[in-house]
Amino acid sequence: MTKDCIFCKIIAGEAPANFVYKDGDMVVFHNINPSAPIHVLMVPVEHIESVNSLEEKHGAVLSKIIIKAKEVAQSLGIRDSGYKLVVNVGTGGGQVIFHLHIHLIGGWEKA
Ligand code: AMP
Ligand code: ZN
Repeated sequence: MTKDCIFCKIIAGEAPANFVYKDGDMVVFHNINPSAPIHVLMVPVEHIESVNSLEEKHGAVLSKIIIKAKEVAQSLGIRDSGYKLVVNVGTGGGQVIFHLHIHLIGGWEKA
């Protein structure tokens, strides 16, 4: 665990979160400050700072997270209505927490 990383603390059970899914490689929990009706964060257990820190060895967990997204969306009732997967990279890209995560966002009313 990386010291002072809130997502590492959540993964370690040392900070609270409302989990949707977890296994040994990744966790998914609700965003504390959602920007849409459904807004969860898909997070690798390993502390990877950002997309800029990715290495070849991270390919497996990254693909696992993306492949898991449809199941998470299904469990939240938004698989068929649709959703966004968003990754903010670096301060200029809006990244605030420097533990890599993919935002899964949706649940807007249909047009
Ligand atoms: P980003 O801007 O991509 O780094 O996104 C970080 C996200 O983490 C923001 O949308 C925050 O609302 C969310 N966040 C920060 N702290 C927590 C927390 N303790 N539990 C859940 N979500 C959090
Ligand atoms: Zn971390």
